[in-house]
Amino acid sequence: MAFEELLEDPVIQKYLHELVGPKGMPVAAAPPDGEVTDEELAEELGLELNDVRRALFILYENDLASYRRLRDEDSGWLTYLWTFEYNKIPEQLEEEMHRLLDGIEQRREYELANEFYLCEVCGVRFEFGEAMEFGFECPDCGSSLDAMENTRLIDAMEARIDELRGELNVDNTELEAQ
Ligand SMILES: [Zn+2]
Repeated sequence: MAFEELLEDPVIQKYLHELVGPKGMPVAAAPPDGEVTDEELAEELGLELNDVRRALFILYENDLASYRRLRDEDSGWLTYLWTFEYNKIPEQLEEEMHRLLDGIEQRREYELANEFYLCEVCGVRFEFGEAMEFGFECPDCGSSLDAMENTRLIDAMEARIDELRGELNVDNTELEAQ
């Protein structure tokens, strides 16, 4: 897939934005074909060299850019030639979504397996065992701790889980059989 097409995808834009931040976004959003130096990018995009380098390094750490070094034989200076490797983005996004899905599923198990008590004054939630240890009184303000429903939270998680499974084409029945 061409870089331009990839970059029109709002999910991919968001992914890149989360990686490099607003200052790095001009770099991440304008991948040149072929090799480029950090100085060239800074000049072309009108950015601080440090911001360009920071963005390039984040992309490198996430396997979205690579570089090779050239030494100028006269001056001895090192030049870094960068190549953007955005062809890996779809695969990486999918891995990211799998991690997210696992996280939410674990959290859902935790919510289902526990009872919770709330101090409405402090807005702090306690597990049943903790609440019992404190004699169902808030350790900070002394208010009574009341049983708290988490059904809505669980519903919201389940909706997100369904959504992610849909996007990832994960078969629900297959997962539940595991
Ligand atoms: Zn309290």
